[in-house]
Amino acid sequence: MKFKGFFFFLVIFLCFQLRADKPFVIVIDPGHGGSNLGATYGNIVEKHLALDLSMRLRTFLNRHPIKNLTVHFTRTADIDLPVKRRIEMIENLKPDLFISIHFNSQKLLSTSRGFEIYYIPDALSGNSYSTAQSYHRANISFKYGKVFRDLFFQTNLYSVWKLPLNMFTQKYGLLLFDETTVPGLLLEMAYLTSPQDRACIENPQFMNDAAWFLYEAIKKIAAQ
Ligand SMILES: [Zn+2]
Repeated sequence: MKFKGFFFFLVIFLCFQLRADKPFVIVIDPGHGGSNLGATYGNIVEKHLALDLSMRLRTFLNRHPIKNLTVHFTRTADIDLPVKRRIEMIENLKPDLFISIHFNSQKLLSTSRGFEIYYIPDALSGNSYSTAQSYHRANISFKYGKVFRDLFFQTNLYSVWKLPLNMFTQKYGLLLFDETTVPGLLLEMAYLTSPQDRACIENPQFMNDAAWFLYEAIKKIAAQ
């Protein structure tokens, strides 16, 4: 009996150890790249902004390592990276969360501005897995999106740069969401077509503050 009890506690202890040692895995996906420029305005190009911001984030992650966190990047250079390849990378790594980084634009008008968070919807056009699974994934995506939303109002992006939170919503019909099976977010950091947002984007200090915001949100998410 005594031996059985010891064995039971050993199993429980090992389970906790395994859980504690399992790293939280995040994939950062800088949008576009290579011949895929993304949005452009004059000489401002989305693919460069997405990579610039992601590399600033990588610098912060290297300088201030987060315990039990592993971060992968789908690209760290200006290369062509088709969505299908990004999906393969995400599916191979099976991260706890992937975050696709983008900058927005508006056709014809320049009135839209601000930061936008899109999370995986609970009803997907692809039906490779069950409704319960997809509902669960949507819930987790929403939970992590909420960390970004709540933290946003405590950062310089909001208080110094006066960047509004424009939207926090599900995103339908996005291949990157439809064809993957893990929680994900797509962040549209600011609008290239908005004069106010552009003034922010063109300032390296803003890009640093934006990278720091991503860093802090990731730190919070990994600690949950
Ligand atoms: Zn984009």
